[in-house]
Amino acid sequence: MSTQKKSIYEASCADDYDASSMPVEKARTFIAKFLEPVHDVLRVALRDALDRVLAEDLISPINVPAHTNSAMDGWAIRADDLNVEGESILTEIGTALAGRPFSGRLNAGECVRIMTGAVVPQGADTIVMQERAQVNGSKITFAPGQKQGQYIRHAGEDIKLGSVGLAKGSLIGPAALGLIASLGISEITVYRPLRVAFFSTGDELRPPGAPLGEGEIYDSNHYTLYGMLKRMGCDLMDMGTVRDDPALLESAFQQASEVADVIITSGGVSVGEADYVKTILNKLGEVVFWKIAMKPGRPLAYGKIGSAHFFGLPGNPVSAMVTFLQFVRHALLALMGVQPVPVIPVLKAKCLSNLKKAPGRTEFQRGILSQDANGEWMVKATGEQGSGILTSMVNANCFIILSEQSGNIEAGNVVDVQVMIS
Ligand code: AMP
Ligand code: MG
Repeated sequence: MSTQKKSIYEASCADDYDASSMPVEKARTFIAKFLEPVHDVLRVALRDALDRVLAEDLISPINVPAHTNSAMDGWAIRADDLNVEGESILTEIGTALAGRPFSGRLNAGECVRIMTGAVVPQGADTIVMQERAQVNGSKITFAPGQKQGQYIRHAGEDIKLGSVGLAKGSLIGPAALGLIASLGISEITVYRPLRVAFFSTGDELRPPGAPLGEGEIYDSNHYTLYGMLKRMGCDLMDMGTVRDDPALLESAFQQASEVADVIITSGGVSVGEADYVKTILNKLGEVVFWKIAMKPGRPLAYGKIGSAHFFGLPGNPVSAMVTFLQFVRHALLALMGVQPVPVIPVLKAKCLSNLKKAPGRTEFQRGILSQDANGEWMVKATGEQGSGILTSMVNANCFIILSEQSGNIEAGNVVDVQVMIS
Protein backbone atom coordinates (compact mmCIF):
# COMPACT_ATOMS: atom_id res chain seq x y z
CA MET A 1 0.00 0.00 0.00
CA SER A 2 1.10 3.60 -0.46
CA THR A 3 2.92 5.43 2.29
CA GLN A 4 0.13 8.02 2.16
CA LYS A 5 -1.70 6.55 5.14
CA LYS A 6 -5.41 6.34 5.22
CA SER A 7 -6.79 8.02 8.30
CA ILE A 8 -7.95 5.52 10.88
CA TYR A 9 -11.18 7.44 11.28
CA GLU A 10 -11.77 7.51 7.56
CA ALA A 11 -11.23 3.77 7.32
CA SER A 12 -13.49 3.18 10.29
CA CYS A 13 -16.36 4.93 8.52
CA ALA A 14 -16.69 2.18 5.89
CA ASP A 15 -20.28 1.01 5.32
CA ASP A 16 -19.86 -2.48 6.70
CA TYR A 17 -18.02 -1.33 9.79
CA ASP A 18 -19.72 -2.03 13.08
CA ALA A 19 -17.64 -0.86 16.03
CA SER A 20 -20.02 -2.44 18.53
CA SER A 21 -19.64 -5.95 17.11
CA MET A 22 -16.47 -6.22 15.09
CA PRO A 23 -15.70 -9.73 13.78
CA VAL A 24 -12.22 -11.03 14.68
CA GLU A 25 -11.05 -11.31 11.06
CA LYS A 26 -12.26 -7.85 10.18
CA ALA A 27 -10.41 -6.28 13.09
CA ARG A 28 -7.23 -8.11 12.03
CA THR A 29 -7.55 -6.89 8.44
CA PHE A 30 -8.27 -3.36 9.62
CA ILE A 31 -5.17 -3.23 11.83
CA ALA A 32 -2.99 -4.76 9.09
CA LYS A 33 -3.74 -1.78 6.81
CA PHE A 34 -1.85 0.55 9.11
CA LEU A 35 1.25 -1.48 9.83
CA GLU A 36 4.45 -0.21 8.28
CA PRO A 37 7.56 -2.15 9.32
CA VAL A 38 10.52 -0.40 10.96
CA HIS A 39 13.17 0.79 8.49
CA ASP A 40 16.23 1.35 10.68
CA VAL A 41 18.84 -1.37 10.63
CA LEU A 42 21.83 -2.47 12.72
CA ARG A 43 24.92 -4.51 11.94
CA VAL A 44 25.24 -7.20 14.56
CA ALA A 45 27.54 -10.10 15.34
CA LEU A 46 25.93 -13.45 14.61
CA ARG A 47 25.03 -14.36 18.21
CA ASP A 48 23.29 -11.00 18.69
CA ALA A 49 21.08 -11.74 15.70
CA LEU A 50 19.02 -14.33 17.62
CA ASP A 51 15.31 -13.28 17.61
CA ARG A 52 16.06 -10.36 15.28
CA VAL A 53 14.76 -9.97 11.74
CA LEU A 54 17.08 -10.16 8.75
CA ALA A 55 17.09 -6.84 6.85
CA GLU A 56 18.97 -8.05 3.74
CA ASP A 57 18.90 -11.04 1.43
CA LEU A 58 21.91 -13.10 2.50
CA ILE A 59 23.67 -14.20 -0.68
CA SER A 60 25.72 -17.29 -0.13
CA PRO A 61 29.45 -16.71 -0.70
CA ILE A 62 30.03 -20.49 -0.87
CA ASN A 63 28.43 -23.76 -1.80
CA VAL A 64 26.92 -25.57 1.19
CA PRO A 65 28.24 -28.16 1.55
CA ALA A 66 31.44 -26.71 0.14
CA HIS A 67 32.66 -30.09 -1.19
CA THR A 68 31.04 -33.23 -2.50
CA ASN A 69 31.34 -35.59 0.46
CA SER A 70 30.29 -38.92 1.87
CA ALA A 71 27.03 -39.41 3.80
CA MET A 72 28.29 -42.72 5.29
CA ASP A 73 31.28 -44.45 6.76
CA GLY A 74 32.42 -46.95 4.10
CA TRP A 75 34.36 -46.97 0.85
CA ALA A 76 34.38 -44.61 -2.12
CA ILE A 77 34.26 -46.55 -5.39
CA ARG A 78 33.63 -46.17 -9.12
CA ALA A 79 30.19 -47.60 -9.98
CA ASP A 80 31.69 -48.88 -13.27
CA ASP A 81 33.77 -51.34 -11.22
CA LEU A 82 30.71 -53.06 -9.73
CA ASN A 83 29.64 -56.43 -11.06
CA VAL A 84 26.06 -56.31 -12.24
CA GLU A 85 25.38 -59.55 -10.41
CA GLY A 86 27.30 -60.89 -7.44
CA GLU A 87 30.02 -59.43 -5.29
CA SER A 88 32.76 -57.03 -6.39
CA ILE A 89 36.31 -57.08 -5.06
CA LEU A 90 38.33 -53.83 -5.17
CA THR A 91 41.74 -52.76 -3.83
CA GLU A 92 41.92 -50.15 -1.10
CA ILE A 93 44.53 -47.48 -1.95
CA GLY A 94 44.07 -44.98 0.87
CA THR A 95 41.83 -43.24 3.37
CA ALA A 96 39.72 -40.05 3.33
CA LEU A 97 38.66 -38.55 6.67
CA ALA A 98 36.51 -35.49 7.39
CA GLY A 99 38.86 -32.54 7.02
CA ARG A 100 41.66 -34.80 5.70
CA PRO A 101 41.00 -35.57 2.04
CA PHE A 102 42.64 -38.35 0.02
CA SER A 103 44.85 -36.51 -2.44
CA GLY A 104 45.14 -39.16 -5.18
CA ARG A 105 42.73 -40.37 -7.82
CA LEU A 106 40.80 -43.63 -8.12
CA ASN A 107 41.58 -45.79 -11.11
CA ALA A 108 39.76 -48.92 -12.31
CA GLY A 109 39.56 -51.61 -9.64
CA GLU A 110 40.41 -49.27 -6.73
CA CYS A 111 38.56 -47.98 -3.70
CA VAL A 112 39.28 -45.57 -0.84
CA ARG A 113 38.24 -46.03 2.79
CA ILE A 114 36.03 -43.01 3.57
CA MET A 115 34.34 -41.54 6.65
CA THR A 116 31.18 -39.44 6.85
CA GLY A 117 31.81 -35.85 5.75
CA ALA A 118 35.10 -36.66 3.99
CA VAL A 119 35.59 -35.27 0.48
CA VAL A 120 34.80 -37.86 -2.20
CA PRO A 121 38.12 -38.58 -3.97
CA GLN A 122 38.56 -37.78 -7.65
CA GLY A 123 37.36 -40.60 -9.86
CA ALA A 124 34.88 -41.98 -7.27
CA ASP A 125 31.14 -41.55 -7.80
CA THR A 126 29.53 -43.89 -5.27
CA ILE A 127 29.83 -44.82 -1.59
CA VAL A 128 29.27 -48.31 -0.21
CA MET A 129 28.50 -48.33 3.49
CA GLN A 130 30.80 -50.39 5.67
CA GLU A 131 28.00 -52.76 6.72
CA ARG A 132 27.90 -53.96 3.10
CA ALA A 133 31.62 -54.74 2.82
CA GLN A 134 34.11 -57.35 4.01
CA VAL A 135 37.77 -56.57 4.59
CA ASN A 136 40.56 -58.94 3.75
CA GLY A 137 43.79 -56.96 3.97
CA SER A 138 43.62 -54.39 1.15
CA LYS A 139 41.06 -56.45 -0.75
CA ILE A 140 37.53 -55.25 -0.03
CA THR A 141 34.53 -57.33 -1.04
CA PHE A 142 31.30 -55.40 -1.68
CA ALA A 143 27.86 -56.99 -1.53
CA PRO A 144 25.72 -56.89 -4.70
CA GLY A 145 22.91 -54.37 -5.17
CA GLN A 146 24.84 -51.11 -4.82
CA LYS A 147 23.43 -48.15 -6.79
CA GLN A 148 25.49 -45.62 -8.71
CA GLY A 149 25.73 -42.26 -6.89
CA GLN A 150 24.43 -43.56 -3.55
CA TYR A 151 25.37 -41.83 -0.25
CA ILE A 152 26.99 -38.86 -1.96
CA ARG A 153 26.21 -35.36 -0.68
CA HIS A 154 26.83 -32.98 -3.56
CA ALA A 155 28.54 -29.61 -3.20
CA GLY A 156 25.86 -26.89 -3.05
CA GLU A 157 22.96 -29.34 -2.54
CA ASP A 158 21.77 -27.34 0.50
CA ILE A 159 22.63 -23.82 -0.73
CA LYS A 160 24.29 -22.88 -4.02
CA LEU A 161 27.03 -20.26 -4.20
CA GLY A 162 25.42 -16.95 -5.26
CA SER A 163 21.88 -17.97 -4.31
CA VAL A 164 19.81 -16.43 -1.50
CA GLY A 165 20.79 -18.41 1.58
CA LEU A 166 18.29 -16.62 3.83
CA ALA A 167 15.69 -14.10 2.69
CA LYS A 168 15.14 -10.59 4.00
CA GLY A 169 12.34 -10.68 6.57
CA SER A 170 13.38 -14.01 8.10
CA LEU A 171 12.95 -14.19 11.85
CA ILE A 172 16.27 -15.52 13.07
CA GLY A 173 15.75 -18.54 15.29
CA PRO A 174 18.33 -21.19 16.17
CA ALA A 175 18.07 -22.95 12.78
CA ALA A 176 18.59 -19.71 10.84
CA LEU A 177 21.47 -18.80 13.13
CA GLY A 178 23.15 -22.11 12.30
CA LEU A 179 22.43 -21.66 8.60
CA ILE A 180 24.09 -18.22 8.57
CA ALA A 181 27.08 -19.74 10.34
CA SER A 182 27.18 -22.50 7.70
CA LEU A 183 27.62 -19.77 5.07
CA GLY A 184 30.67 -18.53 6.96
CA ILE A 185 29.01 -15.17 7.68
CA SER A 186 29.80 -13.67 11.08
CA GLU A 187 28.01 -10.30 10.93
CA ILE A 188 24.62 -9.42 9.44
CA THR A 189 22.20 -6.53 9.02
CA VAL A 190 18.97 -6.77 11.03
CA TYR A 191 16.09 -4.41 11.72
CA ARG A 192 16.38 -2.59 15.00
CA PRO A 193 14.16 -4.02 17.74
CA LEU A 194 10.69 -2.55 18.20
CA ARG A 195 10.42 -0.15 21.12
CA VAL A 196 7.31 -1.05 23.04
CA ALA A 197 6.02 1.05 25.94
CA PHE A 198 3.47 -0.63 28.18
CA PHE A 199 1.51 0.12 31.31
CA SER A 200 -1.51 -1.10 33.22
CA THR A 201 -4.32 1.22 34.18
CA GLY A 202 -6.55 0.96 37.24
CA ASP A 203 -6.91 2.48 40.71
CA GLU A 204 -7.31 -1.01 42.16
CA LEU A 205 -3.92 -2.31 41.01
CA ARG A 206 -1.00 -2.96 43.34
CA PRO A 207 2.43 -4.34 42.51
CA PRO A 208 3.37 -7.81 43.82
CA GLY A 209 5.25 -7.48 47.09
CA ALA A 210 3.02 -4.65 48.38
CA PRO A 211 0.17 -5.30 50.83
CA LEU A 212 -3.35 -5.36 49.38
CA GLY A 213 -5.84 -2.82 50.65
CA GLU A 214 -9.62 -3.19 50.56
CA GLY A 215 -10.82 -3.90 47.00
CA GLU A 216 -7.32 -3.93 45.58
CA ILE A 217 -5.81 -6.63 43.36
CA TYR A 218 -2.33 -7.40 42.12
CA ASP A 219 -1.36 -6.16 38.68
CA SER A 220 -0.94 -9.46 36.84
CA ASN A 221 -1.37 -8.08 33.32
CA HIS A 222 1.83 -6.22 33.75
CA TYR A 223 3.68 -9.49 34.10
CA THR A 224 1.88 -11.45 31.38
CA LEU A 225 2.52 -8.54 29.00
CA TYR A 226 6.12 -8.29 30.07
CA GLY A 227 6.59 -12.01 29.42
CA MET A 228 4.94 -12.03 26.01
CA LEU A 229 6.80 -8.92 24.82
CA LYS A 230 10.15 -10.08 26.17
CA ARG A 231 9.77 -13.41 24.34
CA MET A 232 9.30 -11.47 21.11
CA GLY A 233 12.61 -9.67 21.56
CA CYS A 234 11.07 -6.22 21.91
CA ASP A 235 12.96 -3.33 23.46
CA LEU A 236 10.73 -2.70 26.49
CA MET A 237 9.82 0.56 28.13
CA ASP A 238 8.05 -0.55 31.29
CA MET A 239 5.94 2.34 32.55
CA GLY A 240 4.45 0.50 35.51
CA THR A 241 0.89 1.01 36.69
CA VAL A 242 -0.96 4.25 36.03
CA ARG A 243 -3.95 5.29 38.12
CA ASP A 244 -7.32 6.16 36.57
CA ASP A 245 -6.46 9.83 36.64
CA PRO A 246 -6.80 11.94 33.47
CA ALA A 247 -3.66 14.02 34.04
CA LEU A 248 -1.49 10.99 34.83
CA LEU A 249 -2.88 9.01 31.90
CA GLU A 250 -2.39 11.87 29.49
CA SER A 251 1.19 12.37 30.53
CA ALA A 252 1.89 8.60 30.32
CA PHE A 253 0.48 8.43 26.78
CA GLN A 254 2.35 11.58 25.80
CA GLN A 255 5.64 10.32 27.19
CA ALA A 256 5.23 6.88 25.60
CA SER A 257 4.33 8.28 22.17
CA GLU A 258 7.50 10.33 22.06
CA VAL A 259 9.79 7.29 22.19
CA ALA A 260 7.86 4.13 21.40
CA ASP A 261 6.90 2.44 18.14
CA VAL A 262 4.05 0.72 19.95
CA ILE A 263 2.13 1.53 23.13
CA ILE A 264 0.22 -1.26 24.86
CA THR A 265 -2.04 -0.73 27.83
CA SER A 266 -4.43 -2.92 29.75
CA GLY A 267 -7.71 -1.90 31.34
CA GLY A 268 -9.88 1.14 30.94
CA VAL A 269 -11.32 0.28 27.53
CA SER A 270 -14.63 -1.24 28.65
CA VAL A 271 -17.87 0.53 28.06
CA GLY A 272 -18.78 2.47 31.16
CA GLU A 273 -15.12 3.10 31.99
CA ALA A 274 -14.40 6.72 32.77
CA ASP A 275 -14.73 8.37 29.40
CA TYR A 276 -11.61 10.39 29.83
CA VAL A 277 -9.45 7.60 28.37
CA LYS A 278 -11.34 8.04 25.11
CA THR A 279 -11.17 11.79 25.41
CA ILE A 280 -7.42 11.81 26.04
CA LEU A 281 -6.67 9.39 23.24
CA ASN A 282 -8.83 11.26 20.78
CA LYS A 283 -7.06 14.44 21.75
CA LEU A 284 -3.57 12.94 21.36
CA GLY A 285 -4.17 10.74 18.34
CA GLU A 286 -6.61 8.74 16.28
CA VAL A 287 -8.03 5.79 18.13
CA VAL A 288 -10.98 3.53 17.47
CA PHE A 289 -12.71 1.55 20.17
CA TRP A 290 -14.27 -1.75 19.27
CA LYS A 291 -16.31 -4.39 20.84
CA ILE A 292 -14.81 -7.40 19.14
CA ALA A 293 -17.23 -10.26 18.55
CA MET A 294 -15.02 -12.59 20.57
CA LYS A 295 -14.87 -14.19 23.98
CA PRO A 296 -12.90 -13.56 26.06
CA GLY A 297 -11.60 -10.13 25.16
CA ARG A 298 -14.48 -8.06 23.96
CA PRO A 299 -13.26 -4.48 24.29
CA LEU A 300 -10.20 -3.49 22.28
CA ALA A 301 -8.85 -0.13 21.19
CA TYR A 302 -6.51 0.38 18.27
CA GLY A 303 -5.04 3.51 16.79
CA LYS A 304 -2.11 5.84 16.36
CA ILE A 305 -0.77 8.36 18.83
CA GLY A 306 1.70 10.42 16.84
CA SER A 307 3.71 7.83 14.94
CA ALA A 308 3.18 5.16 17.63
CA HIS A 309 0.68 2.34 17.24
CA PHE A 310 -1.62 1.92 20.19
CA PHE A 311 -3.28 -1.25 21.44
CA GLY A 312 -5.64 -0.85 24.38
CA LEU A 313 -6.25 -4.33 25.79
CA PRO A 314 -9.08 -5.22 28.14
CA GLY A 315 -8.32 -5.42 31.84
CA ASN A 316 -9.46 -8.97 32.57
CA PRO A 317 -6.31 -11.08 32.74
CA VAL A 318 -7.36 -13.80 30.28
CA SER A 319 -8.85 -11.22 27.89
CA ALA A 320 -5.63 -9.22 27.90
CA MET A 321 -3.59 -12.30 26.98
CA VAL A 322 -6.03 -13.57 24.36
CA THR A 323 -6.31 -10.22 22.60
CA PHE A 324 -2.53 -9.89 22.68
CA LEU A 325 -2.00 -13.36 21.20
CA GLN A 326 -4.79 -13.02 18.61
CA PHE A 327 -4.14 -9.44 17.43
CA VAL A 328 -1.09 -7.75 18.87
CA ARG A 329 1.52 -10.48 18.42
CA HIS A 330 0.87 -10.73 14.69
CA ALA A 331 0.93 -6.93 14.35
CA LEU A 332 4.23 -6.68 16.24
CA LEU A 333 5.84 -9.31 14.02
CA ALA A 334 4.74 -7.37 10.94
CA LEU A 335 6.13 -4.14 12.44
CA MET A 336 9.41 -5.91 13.23
CA GLY A 337 9.75 -6.61 9.50
CA VAL A 338 8.98 -10.35 9.60
CA GLN A 339 7.98 -11.46 6.12
CA PRO A 340 5.82 -13.47 5.84
CA VAL A 341 4.37 -13.45 9.35
CA PRO A 342 4.15 -17.17 10.23
CA VAL A 343 0.71 -18.63 10.78
CA ILE A 344 0.06 -20.45 14.03
CA PRO A 345 -0.92 -24.07 13.33
CA VAL A 346 -4.62 -24.92 13.70
CA LEU A 347 -5.54 -28.59 13.72
CA LYS A 348 -8.65 -30.68 14.14
CA ALA A 349 -9.06 -32.58 17.37
CA LYS A 350 -11.78 -34.66 19.00
CA CYS A 351 -13.25 -32.69 21.85
CA LEU A 352 -13.55 -34.66 25.08
CA SER A 353 -15.54 -32.02 26.97
CA ASN A 354 -19.03 -30.60 26.54
CA LEU A 355 -18.51 -26.92 25.72
CA LYS A 356 -21.00 -24.16 26.38
CA LYS A 357 -21.12 -21.72 23.49
CA ALA A 358 -23.73 -19.21 22.31
CA PRO A 359 -23.71 -18.17 18.62
CA GLY A 360 -22.61 -14.59 17.87
CA ARG A 361 -18.97 -14.44 18.95
CA THR A 362 -15.77 -16.32 18.16
CA GLU A 363 -14.60 -18.05 21.32
CA PHE A 364 -11.06 -18.90 22.31
CA GLN A 365 -11.60 -21.49 25.00
CA ARG A 366 -8.53 -22.78 26.74
CA GLY A 367 -7.75 -26.42 26.10
CA ILE A 368 -5.32 -29.21 26.78
CA LEU A 369 -4.30 -31.01 23.62
CA SER A 370 -2.94 -34.55 23.70
CA GLN A 371 -2.87 -37.73 21.62
CA ASP A 372 -4.80 -40.92 22.18
CA ALA A 373 -3.21 -44.39 21.89
CA ASN A 374 -3.67 -44.30 18.07
CA GLY A 375 -1.93 -40.94 17.76
CA GLU A 376 -5.22 -39.07 17.10
CA TRP A 377 -5.41 -35.54 18.51
CA MET A 378 -7.88 -34.96 21.30
CA VAL A 379 -8.59 -31.91 23.41
CA LYS A 380 -10.32 -31.19 26.68
CA ALA A 381 -11.27 -27.84 28.17
CA THR A 382 -9.18 -26.55 31.08
CA GLY A 383 -12.33 -26.16 33.14
CA GLU A 384 -13.82 -22.85 34.24
CA GLN A 385 -13.55 -20.43 31.28
CA GLY A 386 -14.16 -17.02 32.89
CA SER A 387 -12.07 -14.09 31.68
CA GLY A 388 -10.48 -13.68 35.10
CA ILE A 389 -9.37 -17.32 35.44
CA LEU A 390 -5.67 -16.98 34.72
CA THR A 391 -5.05 -20.61 35.76
CA SER A 392 -6.86 -21.55 32.53
CA MET A 393 -4.01 -19.91 30.56
CA VAL A 394 -1.36 -21.56 32.70
CA ASN A 395 -2.88 -25.03 32.26
CA ALA A 396 -3.71 -24.68 28.57
CA ASN A 397 -1.47 -25.62 25.67
CA CYS A 398 -3.99 -24.59 23.01
CA PHE A 399 -7.03 -22.50 22.19
CA ILE A 400 -10.18 -24.33 21.17
CA ILE A 401 -11.48 -21.94 18.52
CA LEU A 402 -15.25 -21.96 18.19
CA SER A 403 -16.57 -19.97 15.23
CA GLU A 404 -19.02 -17.10 15.55
CA GLN A 405 -21.91 -19.26 14.32
CA SER A 406 -21.14 -22.29 16.47
CA GLY A 407 -23.42 -23.25 19.34
CA ASN A 408 -22.78 -25.75 22.17
CA ILE A 409 -20.30 -28.52 21.43
CA GLU A 410 -20.99 -32.02 22.64
CA ALA A 411 -18.14 -34.27 23.67
CA GLY A 412 -17.06 -36.44 20.74
CA ASN A 413 -17.31 -33.68 18.12
CA VAL A 414 -14.30 -32.42 16.19
CA VAL A 415 -13.14 -28.86 16.92
CA ASP A 416 -10.45 -26.47 15.63
CA VAL A 417 -7.50 -26.18 17.95
CA GLN A 418 -4.77 -23.55 17.74
CA VAL A 419 -1.47 -24.45 19.32
CA MET A 420 -0.60 -21.90 21.98
CA ILE A 421 2.54 -19.91 21.33
CA SER A 422 4.12 -18.59 24.48
P1 AMP B 1 -11.20 -2.78 33.10
O1 AMP B 1 -10.97 -3.24 31.69
O2 AMP B 1 -10.23 -1.73 33.51
O3 AMP B 1 -12.61 -2.43 33.32
O4 AMP B 1 -10.91 -4.05 34.01
C1 AMP B 1 -11.70 -5.22 33.90
C2 AMP B 1 -11.35 -6.18 35.01
O5 AMP B 1 -9.98 -6.56 34.92
C3 AMP B 1 -11.51 -5.62 36.41
O6 AMP B 1 -11.97 -6.65 37.23
C4 AMP B 1 -10.12 -5.20 36.80
O7 AMP B 1 -9.92 -5.16 38.18
C5 AMP B 1 -9.30 -6.28 36.14
N1 AMP B 1 -7.97 -5.76 35.80
C6 AMP B 1 -7.71 -4.61 35.16
N2 AMP B 1 -6.40 -4.42 35.01
C7 AMP B 1 -5.79 -5.50 35.57
C8 AMP B 1 -4.44 -5.89 35.74
N3 AMP B 1 -3.45 -5.12 35.28
N4 AMP B 1 -4.17 -7.05 36.36
C9 AMP B 1 -5.18 -7.83 36.81
N5 AMP B 1 -6.46 -7.52 36.67
C10 AMP B 1 -6.80 -6.36 36.08
MG1 MG C 1 -10.00 -0.36 34.99
